[in-house]
Amino acid sequence: DDRISRISSTIRVIPDFPKPGIMFQDITTLLLDHKAFKDTIDLFVERYKDKNINVVAGIEARGFIFGPPIALAIGAKFVPMRKPKKLPGKVISEEYSLEYGTDKMEMHVGAVEAGERALIVDDLIATGGTLNAAIRLLERVEVTVVECACVIELPELKGRDKLGDKPLFVLVSSS
Ligand code: 5GP
Repeated sequence: DDRISRISSTIRVIPDFPKPGIMFQDITTLLLDHKAFKDTIDLFVERYKDKNINVVAGIEARGFIFGPPIALAIGAKFVPMRKPKKLPGKVISEEYSLEYGTDKMEMHVGAVEAGERALIVDDLIATGGTLNAAIRLLERVEVTVVECACVIELPELKGRDKLGDKPLFVLVSSS
């Protein structure tokens, strides 16, 4: 699919951000290319439109960019998975580990119901800890996680292995 190579070419790599040694994959340059941005959304919509998905769970912050247009196009609701203390209502939360320490992910109580079918969307999977927390959060309330979808995977970090039996679909693999 020649859309993939165009998408890949619009992602900017910034060395030593946010810390020395990290090659940061910057998707804001993808957003500047309306064709690449549209192709990104179209590729996900083509894959998920007939899979009876009724929840798109987007992970803060860049899952809030790619998730909503996918949700609108496939006729699903959008549920934000947020950093702690951002959501105003009652929440359930899951902890996950970072390189140093832990973080939490939160979701509003009542946003989803048992038996619903979710797609989890983020821009990038690195170690997989973030997606793993999102899966746990949804499964705690008996939502079926159909798949996780990211624009970029860093395969060397083996994040896929943290997703258990949940499939992961990515557009671009980056070394
Ligand atoms: P993980 O939990 O898989 O190690 O890290 C993935 C999370 O960190 C995602 O929410 C993603 O947005 C963010 N992240 C880590 N590295 C990068 C990067 O190089 N570029 C971007 N855009 N996000 C990153």
